[in-house]
Amino acid sequence: MVEVAHLPVVDVHCHPFLNKGRVTSEEFTDMTAFGGGSREYMEQGDIEFTDAVRDELLLGKRWTTYSRRMVKDLARFFDVEATLDAVVEARNTAVDAGYTEYVRRLYGDAGLETLIFDFGVPLPILPMDEVKAELPVEVIPVFRIEPLIAQLLKTDIGWSEFKQTFDDTINDALVNGGYRGVKSIIAYRTGLEVSPLSRTPDQGLQALDAIRRGLGGGSMKKMRDHLVCRSLELCMEHDVPMQIHTGMGDFEVNLPLCRPAYLMDLLRFPTYRACRVLLVHSGFPYHREAAYMSNVLPRVYMDVSEGIPFAGNAARDIMTGVMAMAPLNKICYGSDGYVLPEINYTSAKLGKQALASALDELVETDFLSANEAQEAAGLILAGNARELYRQR
Ligand SMILES: [Zn+2]
Repeated sequence: MVEVAHLPVVDVHCHPFLNKGRVTSEEFTDMTAFGGGSREYMEQGDIEFTDAVRDELLLGKRWTTYSRRMVKDLARFFDVEATLDAVVEARNTAVDAGYTEYVRRLYGDAGLETLIFDFGVPLPILPMDEVKAELPVEVIPVFRIEPLIAQLLKTDIGWSEFKQTFDDTINDALVNGGYRGVKSIIAYRTGLEVSPLSRTPDQGLQALDAIRRGLGGGSMKKMRDHLVCRSLELCMEHDVPMQIHTGMGDFEVNLPLCRPAYLMDLLRFPTYRACRVLLVHSGFPYHREAAYMSNVLPRVYMDVSEGIPFAGNAARDIMTGVMAMAPLNKICYGSDGYVLPEINYTSAKLGKQALASALDELVETDFLSANEAQEAAGLILAGNARELYRQR
């Protein structure tokens, strides 16, 4: 049997958070749920947010296998009854007694040692020093390009200044700001079908001009595609990985155009072959597709975040599915946790269980020796991410 309980974990994709203090059960559900709507979402649709509507949303968030599993993981940790109210009361008591110490015990139980944070969510960007000061684990920040693009589009600067500010800001973040990589969520905007030919400098100039004149004609897509190409180049210059969101996300994701396959033309283009690229979320539910890409494209990696933990009982299938094609030294564990520390916790517990179960099967069916499976567990949970982010 593969032993995972003692293994350290690097959470390769998640989002920073600060101590929220005590929370109600309702707030806990809202903060930890993957989706299922919010008051704002309903009111934008002219749906009055009555008590009945509030209960309707909570019910959907609580009847996910992910949510039910989290209650059980936390109940075991706190040694309380496996109900939401009991678990929330126990975590509030622990938070009151000392937040950082609570997170230290919680993460110690899961083996969580390092969190690689995409600082692009939440906005406005949380102060890095405060985030680091509260957390008893190593924090590695990643710079998301889309808030920068939004900020630049609000100005009336011309293309040469736009481009220079884009480059300068990312260079500064990587050299002086403590950031160790770049991230794009273009899958939430204009989709992943990015032509490598978008790298031509003229494309940025023409797109910005068309945007400023309100011409439409796909100008925003041309601009975003160009800046993704530029980001890949900057990552190569600084020798840091580029994270690209693939697969499901919240309801705003461009779902038809989030498939990892759309990135093939871009990532196999000779100019970008040197770039180390992490397909975030392994494109779930297209994780087998992402696994294939990390097999045939030497510098493409993938992480299992978001599918684990939010797809609940699919965790084992995700691990098995990606290991079929992805080299085991290119799969990274991740959670996509945010807002509260408990998401990263339950995700690490679930990820370890799913990984051990999937690896045990590979031993039983003679694909891996017991030693190889044990080594692979260490790589997927931490070693591969450390290698990718060059921590030795
Ligand atoms: Zn994320």
